[in-house]
This record gives sequence, C-alpha cells and structure tokens, in this order.
Amino acid sequence: MKKAEKILKIKRWDIVIVGGGPAGLAAALQAHTRGIENILVIERDIHLGGILQQCIHNGFGLHHFKEELTGPEYAQRFIDEIEGKIDYLLDAMVVDLDLQEHDFQGVDDSENLREKIKKVSVMSPELGYQVFETRSLILATGCRERTRGALLIPGTRPAGIFTAGSVQRFVNIEGYLPGKKAVILGSGDIGLIMARRLTLEGIDVKLICEIMPYSSGLTRNIVQCVENFNIPIKYNHTISQIHGRHRVEGVSVCEVDAERRIKPETEFFVECDTLLLSVGLIPENEISLSSGILMDPMTSGPLINESMASSIEGVFACGNAVHVHDLVDFVSEEGIKAGDAAADYIASMKNGKKESEALRIPIRAGSRVRYVVPQFLDTKKKNIKLFFRVTEEIKNCYINIESHTEQLRSLKKRIVKPGEMLQVELSPEQLLKVQGDLTVSIDLAQEVMD
Ligand SMILES: Cc1cc2nc3c(=O)[nH]c(=O)nc-3n(C[C@H](O)[C@H](O)[C@H](O)COP(=O)(O)OP(=O)(O)OC[C@H]3O[C@@H](n4cnc5c(N)ncnc54)[C@H](O)[C@@H]3O)c2cc1C
Repeated sequence: MKKAEKILKIKRWDIVIVGGGPAGLAAALQAHTRGIENILVIERDIHLGGILQQCIHNGFGLHHFKEELTGPEYAQRFIDEIEGKIDYLLDAMVVDLDLQEHDFQGVDDSENLREKIKKVSVMSPELGYQVFETRSLILATGCRERTRGALLIPGTRPAGIFTAGSVQRFVNIEGYLPGKKAVILGSGDIGLIMARRLTLEGIDVKLICEIMPYSSGLTRNIVQCVENFNIPIKYNHTISQIHGRHRVEGVSVCEVDAERRIKPETEFFVECDTLLLSVGLIPENEISLSSGILMDPMTSGPLINESMASSIEGVFACGNAVHVHDLVDFVSEEGIKAGDAAADYIASMKNGKKESEALRIPIRAGSRVRYVVPQFLDTKKKNIKLFFRVTEEIKNCYINIESHTEQLRSLKKRIVKPGEMLQVELSPEQLLKVQGDLTVSIDLAQEVMD
C-alpha cells in the first residue's frame, strides 16, 4: 500500500505535527518514545529537515550530540530515526486549523470516550484538499525572513535583490549563483554565513552594512565568517537608495545617527549587481493567528508555558515558531519538551485524569530584557529553563530572576548581547519561593552595588 493511502485510512490521529524541521522531528520522536504510535508529521517541503537542509556549513549539534555537524548531517540523524516509525507527508501544506472544541464519540466503540478533536486542513498535489482529525497538535512551523517590503528602502525594483536565506537555497541546494558583486544589508547570522559562502564561491562581497552599532549575529560567526575573510563591515550604516532599472547596479550607503536617522552628508555609492537582505526572522504563525491561539507581540510566537503548551488545550508549539533561536540544539530541546507534553496530554485524555496544577504565573521581561520564553509557569514541580534576549549590549551586569521581593537567582555576566539567546535554569526548590509574577531583569553591576 502507498504511504499516502495508508495515511488517509487513519480516521483520527493522536498527534499531528505541523512542520518537519528539527523542532517537529524531535517532538515526534519523543512522543513516539513515550509510547504514542499514532503520529503524523506534515511538511510542505519535499524533504524533512527544515531549514537545516540548506545550512551546509558546520557548527550544529555541539550541545545535543557533543560533536560538530553540518545542518544536513544534524537533520539526518533525526530523519534516520523517524523512518519506519512515524508517518509523514511531504509536499503537503497545512492551510487552516480548526481548534474549536469538537466533541466526538471515541473512534473505538469499546472506548466510549468523548473526545475533544482538532481539525487540520491540508493541501497537497498528491492528496488534494484533506482534513485530518487529531487529538492534539504540535506547531513547529519555523520562521521566515523579513523582506525589502518591511524596510521601505527607496529606489527602483530591479532584479538582484534577495533575502539571504533564499540565496542560501539557490547556492547550496539548487546550484545557482545570484551574481558577481554583492552587498549585504544586516549582520544577522544568515547574512554573516552567506558573506563567507559567497566569497568561497568567488563572488566579491563588497560590504556588509549594519544599522546598529553591533552585529545581531553570534560572535563566532563574526570572527569565522567575516573577520577571517577580511570582508568589510560597517556598523551604524544603512542603504539609503537602490540603483538600477532592470538589474541592481549599485546601492547608496549612509551613516546613521544615534536615533538611526540617515546622515545624508555621509552618503557613498557601492557598485554591485546583488543585494542580500539579512534583516531579521519572524516566527511563521499565520495558521496559528487565524485559529485563535494567543500570541506574544514581542516574539510573534504563541504564548506558552514551561511545557510548550499554548493557550488552547492540547495544542503545543516549539522551535522557531515560538521564538527565533540561534542554535538548533535548543530547538531540539524544545521539541522534546513539546513531544513529552503532548504524550502526557494524550495519556490524560485516555485515562480521564488531568494534570491538577495549572498556576498560570506570568513570567515577565524586566529592565533591559526584550522578551522571555516561556511566558507562563504552570507547575513548580520540575526544573524550568527561561530563554531570553536583551535589548542592548551590556558589560559587567547581573541577570536577576525575582518574584515580588524574593530573589530566586542572580548570575554575574561579563557581557550580554542582543544577538545571543540567554538561558537560566530554575529548580523546584527555587520555584517554591515564587509568590506572584516572575521577572527577569538585567541590572548593571553599579546598580546592584548601590
Ligand atoms: C541560515 C541559517 C544558519 C544557521 N546556522 C546555525 C548554526 O550554525 N548552528 C546552529 O545550531 N543553528 C543554526 N541555525 C538555526 C537553526 O537552523 C534553526 O534554529 C532551526 O533549524 C529551527 O528549527 P525549526 O524546526 O523550528 O524550524 P525550520 O527548520 O524552519 O522547520 C520548520 C518547517 O516547518 C515547515 N512548515 C512551515 N509552515 C508549514 C505549513 N503551514 N505546513 C507544512 N509545513 C510547514 C517548513 O517548511 C519547515 O520545513 C541557522 C539557521 C539559519 C536560517
């Protein structure tokens, strides 16, 4: 029997996972390890592995596998484990979620259970339009890049303007070079990695322009991808105009002031036929937004608790769909948590017992912290990890976790940077001191001494 035909015969899934990247695959494997057999992964691309398949550089897996792998190697370790154990659909896009509480009789008559069912609408060239029923859902849809439209750069609309990720796909998967002379706007990790990649392919990378006074990428990428290749990078600079009618012919570059306003007197011209934009990633959550899941405006991902549970019962989220990660190892860690939580949910649904503790304690971003994930604490019984990013580069500071006047943890840091995700773990003993909201702040060493 063909795989797709077998999949269509299944009336109701225990877990449907949207997205077959590292987050979705880790979630699927963990739920399977916990004894859930009826799992379906739906992936819109023609292969599993997500964005990792186009990241052919190394640097993946140092935490999770304790060795340095390329993106495809890291993904393949999960794909090899999935094969033969877990069903998946490729080239199939989830276009709609119906998360209203559909109360159905259990499929198996002997169970005589009333079940709360979610519906997942899928489009695929092979299967057409299909609606799958599932008891629980894991959203692992990753993120997408910001485009020129979000930046409003003046100028013409010639060919030769790409997001850094799309050039990565052209070069690494499809075997095309985008041009001969490139300028890169933004110094996020993808921009830095592509500066090195294009240089290795013989393209002259004329300049990386960064509007902020610092790079938003990892320090290791600034050193290994830019400094080691002597690629010019200008901080506090942006592109003020794109030139060229049919094809990019060059860009005007300007310095910016402290309020990030262009200083016209500093303008200079850089000749190029290609412009790469590496100006930020946004969690991909269109289907979640329209299904009524509560979202965090700071992360653009769903609000979640320490187990990756969203605001809708039985719906979990993990990976870049929740917040943009710089290391895939932590994406896999979140996938494992989501897989565990979905397995617990299925077990509680089947035996009629529900987890009794649901505290809903908000976790807030305090001074100099842009966001914190998870945003809610619902149990004090297990170790929890808080992931967060700071608003600016700060030297000699303390990460302080407080609940009202109780200090739960304080950690000294030599430097913190917005481009690097920070994490702090809290034990059940520390959580016992929680009185109300939890706040994560960065305090300057000076303030702590005062
Ligand atoms: C250029 C680049 C370089 C990186 N370099 C490193 C590095 O050196 N080291 C490191 O550790 N990490 C690195 N990362 C980070 C790491 O690759 C990501 O954090 C990780 O891949 C995110 O995993 P994910 O599963 O959340 O998302 P993704 O890998 O993006 O997977 C999400 C999947 O969901 C699918 N999907 C989305 N919507 C739908 C839908 N509606 N229906 C069906 N399928 C859908 C997508 O097609 C995709 O396959 C890099 C990332 C990028 C982009």
